[in-house]
Amino acid sequence: MQSKFIIFLGLPGSGKGTQSKILTDNFKNFYSLSTGDAIRKILKEENSELSKKLHDVVSAGLLVDDDLICEITQKEILFWKDNLVNSDECLNQNFILDGFPRTIKQSENLEEFLNKTKIGDVALLILFDLKKRIAIKRLLDRVICKDCGNIQSVFGLKKNDVNHLVCNRCGGQMIKRKDDQIKTIRTRIKNDKKIIDFLLKFYQNRGIKCLKLNAALKINVLHKKIKNIIDLL
Ligand code: ADP
Repeated sequence: MQSKFIIFLGLPGSGKGTQSKILTDNFKNFYSLSTGDAIRKILKEENSELSKKLHDVVSAGLLVDDDLICEITQKEILFWKDNLVNSDECLNQNFILDGFPRTIKQSENLEEFLNKTKIGDVALLILFDLKKRIAIKRLLDRVICKDCGNIQSVFGLKKNDVNHLVCNRCGGQMIKRKDDQIKTIRTRIKNDKKIIDFLLKFYQNRGIKCLKLNAALKINVLHKKIKNIIDLL
């Protein structure tokens, strides 16, 4: 049995998190790591020095330190390998990387780590292709569940609306992400645009299958496309 790593690449708001959640909620052979969720978990820790340090970086829409992100990712992959990969129900293992790698150093680090540990290979990169204008609109309308991280979109969302929203997955309280503010969104999009082309070339040069999908499609339509592609790997 070979583990497959699948990279979800795309602007913030392009639906990477939504699609990974659908896959992991519905199919046992999918596991995902959202480095953004991992960072938000650290931010929730009270009285933590690391949390204080990260707060300003994330609020400004900047990337956190490569070493920290690589450490988080490696730990999660090892945890998955040691605890989940060998369970009986899982025949074909797919590990989705949502939000990682996001820099040159991170892509090199992942490559070295997978070569060294022989846990699996990057089998596919999916680029969620979306116009900047639509991404901004989606992020301004986006709320997430404080408890389970579920993402919902509320057309024309107003500040006061947020308090009344309940998660349609676990019933938890929906909140606005602190970094989903127009200034921060612009910074994140600008930085991500720069790195997307590089990462695409990096993986194409290694002969890894890279597909560009229209991220403006309806959620379930896009899901079916992604599932079909992965099933054929
Ligand atoms: P987005 O909605 O912009 O795709 P994420 O939820 O993936 O954002 O991540 C939120 C924040 O967490 C980022 O703006 C960044 O500060 C940090 N972060 C997430 N992944 C990475 C990464 N691979 N490298 C550095 N920072 C990261």
